Amino acid sequence: LANQHVAAEDLLVSPLWRAEETALPRPAEIYGYLHGECRLNSQGMDMTYDTERSPVLAAARALRVQTPEEITAENVDPLMHTLHAGQVRWDALPVERRAEILTQAADLLESRREPMLALVMREAHKTLADAVAELREAVDFCRYYAIQAKALMRKEVLPGPTGEANSLNLRGRGVFVCISPWNFPLAIFAGQVVAALVTGNSVAAKPAEQTMAIAQAFVELLWEAGVPRDALALMPGAGETVGAALTEHPLTAGVIFTGSTAVARHIHQSLAVKDGPIVPLIAETGGINAMIVDSTALAEQVVDAVIASAFRSAGQRCSALRLLCLQEECADEILTMLTGAMQELVIGPALDYATDVSPVIDAEAQSHLVEQIGRIGQGGGKLLARTAWPAALLESARGGDTSLALTIADDQQRDLHFVAPCAYAINHVSQVREEIFGPVLQVVTWKAGQIDALIDAINALGFGLTLGVQTRIDGRAAHIAARSRCGNVYVNRNMIGAVVGVQPFGGEGLSGTGPKAGGPHYLLRMVAEQAVSINT
Ligand code: NAP
Repeated sequence: LANQHVAAEDLLVSPLWRAEETALPRPAEIYGYLHGECRLNSQGMDMTYDTERSPVLAAARALRVQTPEEITAENVDPLMHTLHAGQVRWDALPVERRAEILTQAADLLESRREPMLALVMREAHKTLADAVAELREAVDFCRYYAIQAKALMRKEVLPGPTGEANSLNLRGRGVFVCISPWNFPLAIFAGQVVAALVTGNSVAAKPAEQTMAIAQAFVELLWEAGVPRDALALMPGAGETVGAALTEHPLTAGVIFTGSTAVARHIHQSLAVKDGPIVPLIAETGGINAMIVDSTALAEQVVDAVIASAFRSAGQRCSALRLLCLQEECADEILTMLTGAMQELVIGPALDYATDVSPVIDAEAQSHLVEQIGRIGQGGGKLLARTAWPAALLESARGGDTSLALTIADDQQRDLHFVAPCAYAINHVSQVREEIFGPVLQVVTWKAGQIDALIDAINALGFGLTLGVQTRIDGRAAHIAARSRCGNVYVNRNMIGAVVGVQPFGGEGLSGTGPKAGGPHYLLRMVAEQAVSINT
């Protein structure tokens, strides 16, 4: 279960969306690049890596993150006017040219993977495996939306009576405001921005305050690929001031938001009363995601999927597993195995090669998680398991209570805030009242014959993002998927890491508006349609 290897193929998923594969590095090169020099024993087996020699890890260790200067709410108005004027020229380009620029950006991103991976690891505390997955997803978004836009925006000739020529033309709506979270600082930021750009909109991009350097690096890369500066502006600043000034601006023609349900609701309300056009909002928000496990499931597979879904990225994924629902007959076996597996997880800094669970994003997230874990206990939750701290972390920890969380300083004297992965038994699904955005799992059991009541209770939480199903009964997975109100259902596997164009991602209810990111309908929300009817 330890995070020892990143499959070489992880960097190669983008062939799905690339025309030719000749430029790709060979797997052996990627392994060396990521993991350092490979050594074989005398039988040529048992590979070990000298991770000190990995160029990516070396780059990450050497990096000092330069955060861009923040703008204020007063800077927003002139920038919006520039983007408004720039949009007309950008939209006038053929879609093929905009798609070509995105493809060029994807090539640049792949060729600059070393500094980008280093930045993602340093600024967002992502492990090497998570940083690779993030970069891959960003590349996939560029290539996929380039392909989708070319198909979508082709002028469509429509039927009509003799003497009449009808057509349907699609074009950009105007200035799109893209607001993103810190937990996928490259992939989500890139996905929003390139989708709005390729459809002919100009973009005001507001990243999360915690990860502005990554956003700046990607914006600079898009400028270099050919996106004009008056079609794309970085708006680094606080959500409550700069973010609010952007969504409330009269020139805003659309908003793409990914983040918490509370902020999405706030933006929705402010859009309803703002001056200017009525604008579409795409909101992708949180989830209280469950996994339903019946007694026919394969225990090892369940535990593997739970560990990855609940604890990878320190549980800081919107898709992460929060609520494990075990049929009573298999609960003991699975919980014994899960408890053991949780003790094998390695908590540590993102730049340590062996780390499975890296720090949470900041001190505020850490203290919020500690409060939320406390509330589980106060509500009657019983601790099932908690991953032990490695001795090295405990020795360097600041004073205070280290039972749930601890803080150390890294090699650059920046604070790293850890929360130990933990699992609690609770009595009923309805006890889960809030999304806990960290490595915290709650577990309920259910009785045979109660499957529909269980699905209904999960639906009643109001969120509808991801759902895991573990069963070997023919037809049961399909039944659960049909009754559930979740956007993404994963059967007999983990429930994270949706692949662009393969698992279009997004939920319903409190989890978002749709359309799904990385899916065939996403770009439609970003265009205006014009039907032209000519009397010939
Ligand atoms: P957040 O607090 O809602 O912040 C998201 C973004 O909104 C940030 O850029 C933030 O700026 C900005 N913002 C805050 N207040 C604003 C306002 N009044 N007007 C305009 N913008 C404002 O969420 P987060 O803590 O960064 O991210 C975690 C949440 O995102 C979780 O709930 C998670 O489930 C969700 N998420 C959902 C998906 C999905 O695809 N469904 C994917 C990833 C994450 P500042 O950071 O500068 O304040």
